[in-house]
Amino acid sequence: MEENIDGILKKPVQFLKGVGEARAKLFQKLGIFTVEDVLTHFPREYEDRRRLKKAAEMQDNDTCAFEGVVRSKVEVTKPRKDLSIYKLSIGDDTGIITAVWFNQHYIKNVFAPGERYVFYGRISKRFNRLEMQNPVYEKIEEGEMKDACRIVPIYPSTHQLSQNILRSVIGSAVKAVEGSLEEILPQWIRSRYKLSGVNYSLRNIHFPQSEEDFKKARFRLAFEELLLLQLGLLSIKRASEETKSGICFKTVDEMAAFMDNLPFQLTDAQRKVFAEIERDMEKPVVMNRLVQGDVGSGKTVVAVLALYKAVKSGFQGTLMVPTEILAEQHFSSISRLLEGSGIKTALLTGSRTGRQKDLLLEEISEGRIDIVIGTHALVQEKVKFKNLGLVVTDEQHRFGVRQRAALSRKGDSPDVLVMTATPIPRTLALILYGDLDISVIDQLPPGRKPVMTYAVDESMRDRVNGFVRKKVSEGRQVYIVCPLVEESDTVEAKSAMELADRIAGQDFKDLKVGLIHGKMKSRDKDEIMKSFVEGRISILVSTTVIEVGVDVPNATLMIIENAERFGLAQLHQLRGRVGRGEHQSYCILYNQGKTRISRERMKIMEKTGDGFLIAEKDLELRGPGEFFGTRQHGLPDLKIANLYKDLDILKMAQEAALELIKNDRFLKKEENAGLKKRIAEKFREKINGLSLN
Ligand code: ADP
Ligand code: MG
Repeated sequence: MEENIDGILKKPVQFLKGVGEARAKLFQKLGIFTVEDVLTHFPREYEDRRRLKKAAEMQDNDTCAFEGVVRSKVEVTKPRKDLSIYKLSIGDDTGIITAVWFNQHYIKNVFAPGERYVFYGRISKRFNRLEMQNPVYEKIEEGEMKDACRIVPIYPSTHQLSQNILRSVIGSAVKAVEGSLEEILPQWIRSRYKLSGVNYSLRNIHFPQSEEDFKKARFRLAFEELLLLQLGLLSIKRASEETKSGICFKTVDEMAAFMDNLPFQLTDAQRKVFAEIERDMEKPVVMNRLVQGDVGSGKTVVAVLALYKAVKSGFQGTLMVPTEILAEQHFSSISRLLEGSGIKTALLTGSRTGRQKDLLLEEISEGRIDIVIGTHALVQEKVKFKNLGLVVTDEQHRFGVRQRAALSRKGDSPDVLVMTATPIPRTLALILYGDLDISVIDQLPPGRKPVMTYAVDESMRDRVNGFVRKKVSEGRQVYIVCPLVEESDTVEAKSAMELADRIAGQDFKDLKVGLIHGKMKSRDKDEIMKSFVEGRISILVSTTVIEVGVDVPNATLMIIENAERFGLAQLHQLRGRVGRGEHQSYCILYNQGKTRISRERMKIMEKTGDGFLIAEKDLELRGPGEFFGTRQHGLPDLKIANLYKDLDILKMAQEAALELIKNDRFLKKEENAGLKKRIAEKFREKINGLSLN
């Protein structure tokens, strides 16, 4: 068949043998539509069925393959109404074993005495009889050995699509393209990083002959995927630099005086980061900059400096934050910083309604307000700016890329500043935010006392409670967090709730306690937060994670129940709620975890206050998955690489990507044509719809 390879890859799954209309629907449920999708439906694990054992060799608990001849009919027993047991005797020249299935009614009609099969499963020895429970099996025709004695791929599936079907369909897809897949990686990359060829890799990721083959195949495919991701992000970044001409903000004469008149001296780190921002703002391209800084490093004031510059250059600016409380806090602290500057600031949140709101919207659209601070209410259609020049989002991980983009569209290619306290290890940051430039505020304002942190167990409760009372009697405030990590886990939710109720209603009944439950309306939560901010509540007990970024300098004690259930990065964020004022602050971690790892994690918290170090350790101890989702970042899904496990490969891919771009900025060379095409396919949506401005 003279068909070009791209044509085959794009064909619907029905093109493959064994796939009709009905099956195609099942495949679609797995997100598989085309032959290419089939080929990139990678195994989630493998079973090593190469080890054939004779009946006489088998031990209790072995998982192995067995080749034998069917010696009996399938026998059915029904010990209970809802339980049918199917048994089959199979034998080789050393003995007989029994295959056992439960409730798999079709088994009755599968086997006929005298047929030869390979079975694979776990052996259990009962009264000297060998049983293989729920084995998978494969018929052997005329000395042919198929999957039965190989390393067999196990695919992610739905229960209607059996592994056998998946395996055979994927097998025929592999056959259909074998040898004709185009190599998109240039030769120098393949030889430098010792990457296998694409055809070899695809065959061996699905049907490896040995572990070695599998490893080589996986390495190549993961490398390619991460390389494409890197190149894609770099090209998005480049696209926005090249095509989007942005505002050239002025060099503002009053800037230096404004900086000198702040109530505190800026740290070197703050100055350095603002200098980077300033340089971007004055360039005629759109700024897309991420400012990372540990909790308390003073990101707000850096944002204020940028907003000040924007306004003094004749533009409006806006700051979007995730919650009303935070918006109000920022509004009041920023208004204070801007006092006497002649800049008009306003607050826009969802709770503003009616005439008051209409008036405000009018003032914004007529340009009589210079800086608007608010929640996602800012994104609403009714909000119009006269000449929005700078968009700042705080605690950006709470917003999707789309929300950011929506806000940006309210201006004509405004500059964008994104601030986050979520400490992300550097390598990961480069991937996740490859489309942003990154500045790091890597220094805390002087005089910050580290938060003294102690991991304790239940036996310390009386002493800790005594400490809480002491602090409250000194006039300080206290946070107590009872984690509810999985909203869906009702048992856990109940116990978190009970614990919070007990602490609020019994332990500290005589004190001014506020209680925030996960199920409360956000307006009610805000109300309680506000009482805490204003000092009308001494102890804030909550089952949810209290708001990021809230600044209550008088709160000096943070107590975290079941601390073992949190990630270290999250514990660090929570701890960052205290240690914001002049008084020594404390963090007490109740650790119910008994494992070595949970003790180690608590030790890290006791020892260090460095968010980046904590994040790296977290990654190391917790491994993949939970640490930081990729989905919310709008990145394409990774099919084979894992951002956490494959940090080594990631670094190599990064290095290769940078070198590629350095030598061939627009991937115009013939040897890079394949890469270029693939990037365009993969990132099309992102380049058009999701780019930041
Ligand atoms: P974050 O980076 O967590 O958003 P904030 O901007 O809320 O931190 O700053 C935390 C506190 O530190 C605020 O009360 C702020 O006024 C104060 N602050 C910021 N910069 C400095 C500085 N250079 N010197 C002293 N205090 C500062
Ligand atoms: Mg902040």
